[in-house]
Amino acid sequence: MDLKGLTIQKAHDAMKAGEYSSVDLVNEYKKVYEEKNGELNAYLEWFDDAEEQAKEADKKFADGTAELMTGIPVAIKDNILFKGHKASAASKILENYTATYNSNVVKKLKEAGAVILGRTNMDEFAMGSSTENSAYGVTKNPHDLERVPGGSSGGSAAAVAADMALVTLGSDTGGSVRQPSAFCGVVGLKPTYGSVSRSGLIAMGSSLDIVGPIGKSVSDVEVVFDLVKGQDKMDSTSLPNAANEANEANEAKSVIGVPRHFLETDGIGEDVLSNLDDVVSKLESLGYKIEDIELPSAKYSIPSYYVVMPAEASANLARFDGVKYGLHKDGENLIDDYFKTRGKGFGTEVKRRILLGTYVLSAGYYDAYYNKAIAVRDLIREDYRKAFEDVDVILTPTTAGPAFKIGEKVNDPVAMYLEDVFTGPANMTGLPAISVPSGVVSVDGKDLPLGIQLIAPHQREDLLFKVGKEFLGEE
Ligand code: GLN
Repeated sequence: MDLKGLTIQKAHDAMKAGEYSSVDLVNEYKKVYEEKNGELNAYLEWFDDAEEQAKEADKKFADGTAELMTGIPVAIKDNILFKGHKASAASKILENYTATYNSNVVKKLKEAGAVILGRTNMDEFAMGSSTENSAYGVTKNPHDLERVPGGSSGGSAAAVAADMALVTLGSDTGGSVRQPSAFCGVVGLKPTYGSVSRSGLIAMGSSLDIVGPIGKSVSDVEVVFDLVKGQDKMDSTSLPNAANEANEANEAKSVIGVPRHFLETDGIGEDVLSNLDDVVSKLESLGYKIEDIELPSAKYSIPSYYVVMPAEASANLARFDGVKYGLHKDGENLIDDYFKTRGKGFGTEVKRRILLGTYVLSAGYYDAYYNKAIAVRDLIREDYRKAFEDVDVILTPTTAGPAFKIGEKVNDPVAMYLEDVFTGPANMTGLPAISVPSGVVSVDGKDLPLGIQLIAPHQREDLLFKVGKEFLGEE
């Protein structure tokens, strides 16, 4: 079986034609998992019932009720709940937690007959850009084992890149689907905030979090997004599907804006800028018009994100008190229980963010930090709104450089936070954005992938898919 060139459509056609079954396909991926996961650590667990699920899918093919996603092998990030299966958010505090209900995304995947292969590694509670903050060991980049796969959905991106799953789900709060996708040479979508239900996603920053698909092609990512999107009564911030998605009337070539001044950030690699120039030339040759745009407040995205996100995370993580879920350590009294449980259960980065978040929300500092960050967020939103009066899509590199070495940034949290420089604004504004592979750079004799990011107006994922497919020459 050619797993490298496989797409959802091809796998569906083959299963429908009886060339192979979902059980065969799942076993093929399992072979790769058994061969490579010891080294890569992309999965935290391969689910025991994966083959059982595939048998159910094969029944759907037999009785003629199979849909496009039936029997398709999918892996999910360890912060997405699948009833009866462990979900730890790569934290010790949830080490033995078993999900008691299905997340909305898993519910939809299971209704369509998809096979959930297992749960993938991540930075603890999705806080990080390298998967080094996992309590269960780092994931390695399949393109160079000395390098990180990115994060926080590093396991999900590495699993796709190493053919351990056809598609995966990640989550993106500040770049966690797009940055690892760029580092691993795959496609990753951060949908419009609210377009996919957050029900059953272990919360980090609730005004920023979204579940997003990762795959080898734009069309695979589109198929998964189309299945999981939509309003859900369990998430009051979820949105009805937009009407414009079905509107194919807009045949005119999109105008693409490039915020050059914003890209001249300290630390952006020359190789990234020259890759961007190549991408611009390619898009021009495909008939797109490229325009320079201004996003004056985009550079404040990181400082404001690192106030808003910890504030929300500190509130969300208050529920891990040793009573309701997971780990419990006995202390001398209730407060001591909290200290012992949380002291033992959370890793360094999670503690750092809880402290930061509690600080910026405290009575004396609320106005100075939290309220100011919220005001800056409005400015950033306004910048993008204005830019979209002139252009249809915005283009940036996904990251300032290719995958970095394991250990290179662990002692410098600020350097790690700068990984989000180009991805963060889409979360602060709620805009949809996709990372698409744009070439490789050769470092220490290894070809390391780079990605470009396309950003569209709210609920215009259709534009991202269109430009992304044309860029990659799909279909
Ligand atoms: N790197 C960012 C952070 O650590 C983004 C994480 C994410 O998107 N989940 O907050």
